[in-house]
Amino acid sequence: MKPIRRQRLLLAVTFWLALVSNALPAQIMTMRVSGFCKCEICCGPHACGITASGRPAVGKLIAAPRNFRFGTMIEVPGYGVAPVLDRGGKIKGRRLDLLFASHAAAKKWGVRFLKVKIRKVRNT
Ligand SMILES: [Zn+2]
Repeated sequence: MKPIRRQRLLLAVTFWLALVSNALPAQIMTMRVSGFCKCEICCGPHACGITASGRPAVGKLIAAPRNFRFGTMIEVPGYGVAPVLDRGGKIKGRRLDLLFASHAAAKKWGVRFLKVKIRKVRNT
Protein backbone atom coordinates (compact mmCIF):
# COMPACT_ATOMS: atom_id res chain seq x y z
CA MET A 1 0.00 0.00 0.00
CA LYS A 2 1.28 3.47 -0.82
CA PRO A 3 1.97 5.63 2.22
CA ILE A 4 -0.54 8.30 1.13
CA ARG A 5 -3.34 5.75 0.79
CA ARG A 6 -2.53 4.31 4.18
CA GLN A 7 -2.69 7.77 5.68
CA ARG A 8 -6.07 8.39 4.09
CA LEU A 9 -7.38 5.08 5.36
CA LEU A 10 -6.15 5.88 8.83
CA LEU A 11 -7.84 9.26 8.65
CA ALA A 12 -11.11 7.64 7.55
CA VAL A 13 -10.95 5.10 10.37
CA THR A 14 -10.19 7.81 12.94
CA PHE A 15 -13.08 9.89 11.67
CA TRP A 16 -15.44 6.90 11.76
CA LEU A 17 -14.35 6.00 15.28
CA ALA A 18 -14.93 9.57 16.42
CA LEU A 19 -18.44 9.45 14.98
CA VAL A 20 -19.23 6.11 16.58
CA SER A 21 -17.81 7.04 19.99
CA ASN A 22 -19.89 10.22 19.90
CA ALA A 23 -23.06 8.31 19.14
CA LEU A 24 -22.44 5.35 21.43
CA PRO A 25 -22.97 6.74 24.94
CA ALA A 26 -26.66 7.39 24.20
CA GLN A 27 -28.81 6.14 27.02
CA ILE A 28 -32.56 5.74 27.04
CA MET A 29 -34.39 6.68 30.19
CA THR A 30 -38.02 7.23 31.11
CA MET A 31 -38.40 10.65 32.68
CA ARG A 32 -41.08 13.02 33.88
CA VAL A 33 -40.92 15.85 31.39
CA SER A 34 -42.60 19.16 32.13
CA GLY A 35 -42.50 22.50 30.34
CA PHE A 36 -41.60 26.01 31.45
CA CYS A 37 -41.01 29.48 30.06
CA LYS A 38 -39.03 32.42 31.39
CA CYS A 39 -42.03 34.13 33.03
CA GLU A 40 -42.50 34.86 36.74
CA ILE A 41 -45.01 32.05 37.17
CA CYS A 42 -42.46 29.50 35.98
CA CYS A 43 -39.23 30.99 37.32
CA GLY A 44 -40.35 33.06 40.31
CA PRO A 45 -40.36 36.82 40.91
CA HIS A 46 -36.65 37.07 40.10
CA ALA A 47 -37.01 35.60 36.63
CA CYS A 48 -34.51 37.38 34.42
CA GLY A 49 -34.27 35.13 31.40
CA ILE A 50 -30.81 33.82 32.21
CA THR A 51 -30.34 30.09 32.76
CA ALA A 52 -28.19 28.47 35.47
CA SER A 53 -25.47 27.91 32.86
CA GLY A 54 -25.32 31.64 32.18
CA ARG A 55 -26.86 31.34 28.73
CA PRO A 56 -29.99 33.35 27.93
CA ALA A 57 -33.26 31.42 28.04
CA VAL A 58 -33.96 31.38 24.32
CA GLY A 59 -34.73 28.64 21.84
CA LYS A 60 -34.82 25.02 22.87
CA LEU A 61 -33.06 24.05 26.08
CA ILE A 62 -33.57 21.75 29.00
CA ALA A 63 -33.39 22.08 32.78
CA ALA A 64 -32.08 18.85 34.27
CA PRO A 65 -30.76 17.58 37.62
CA ARG A 66 -27.13 18.19 38.56
CA ASN A 67 -25.96 14.78 37.38
CA PHE A 68 -26.58 16.02 33.83
CA ARG A 69 -23.61 18.14 32.86
CA PHE A 70 -24.36 21.40 31.01
CA GLY A 71 -24.12 20.72 27.30
CA THR A 72 -25.47 17.18 27.53
CA MET A 73 -27.76 16.68 24.55
CA ILE A 74 -31.12 15.05 25.22
CA GLU A 75 -33.57 13.90 22.60
CA VAL A 76 -37.16 14.32 23.78
CA PRO A 77 -39.96 12.91 21.60
CA GLY A 78 -42.24 15.75 20.53
CA TYR A 79 -39.67 18.44 21.44
CA GLY A 80 -36.48 17.47 19.63
CA VAL A 81 -32.82 17.42 20.56
CA ALA A 82 -31.76 20.15 22.98
CA PRO A 83 -28.88 20.86 25.37
CA VAL A 84 -29.07 20.82 29.16
CA LEU A 85 -28.40 24.44 30.13
CA ASP A 86 -30.52 25.01 33.21
CA ARG A 87 -31.38 23.68 36.66
CA GLY A 88 -34.54 23.91 38.71
CA GLY A 89 -35.48 23.59 42.36
CA LYS A 90 -37.99 20.86 41.60
CA ILE A 91 -35.90 19.27 38.87
CA LYS A 92 -34.44 16.35 40.76
CA GLY A 93 -34.20 12.64 40.09
CA ARG A 94 -35.81 11.59 36.85
CA ARG A 95 -37.22 14.95 35.90
CA LEU A 96 -36.67 17.32 33.03
CA ASP A 97 -38.09 20.76 32.30
CA LEU A 98 -38.25 22.00 28.72
CA LEU A 99 -38.05 25.67 27.78
CA PHE A 100 -40.89 27.01 25.65
CA ALA A 101 -41.23 30.45 24.08
CA SER A 102 -44.49 31.24 25.86
CA HIS A 103 -46.30 30.27 29.01
CA ALA A 104 -49.22 28.99 26.93
CA ALA A 105 -46.92 26.66 25.01
CA ALA A 106 -45.36 25.36 28.25
CA LYS A 107 -48.81 24.76 29.75
CA LYS A 108 -49.94 23.04 26.59
CA TRP A 109 -47.02 20.61 26.86
CA GLY A 110 -48.11 19.80 30.44
CA VAL A 111 -46.38 16.86 32.08
CA ARG A 112 -45.42 13.80 30.10
CA PHE A 113 -43.68 10.59 30.99
CA LEU A 114 -41.39 9.91 28.07
CA LYS A 115 -38.48 7.77 27.02
CA VAL A 116 -35.72 10.25 26.33
CA LYS A 117 -32.35 9.64 24.72
CA ILE A 118 -29.37 11.04 26.59
CA ARG A 119 -26.08 11.75 24.89
CA LYS A 120 -23.36 12.41 27.41
CA VAL A 121 -20.75 14.96 26.51
CA ARG A 122 -17.10 14.30 27.02
CA ASN A 123 -15.33 15.91 29.96
CA THR A 124 -13.47 18.92 28.65
ZN1 LIG B 1 -44.24 30.58 32.29
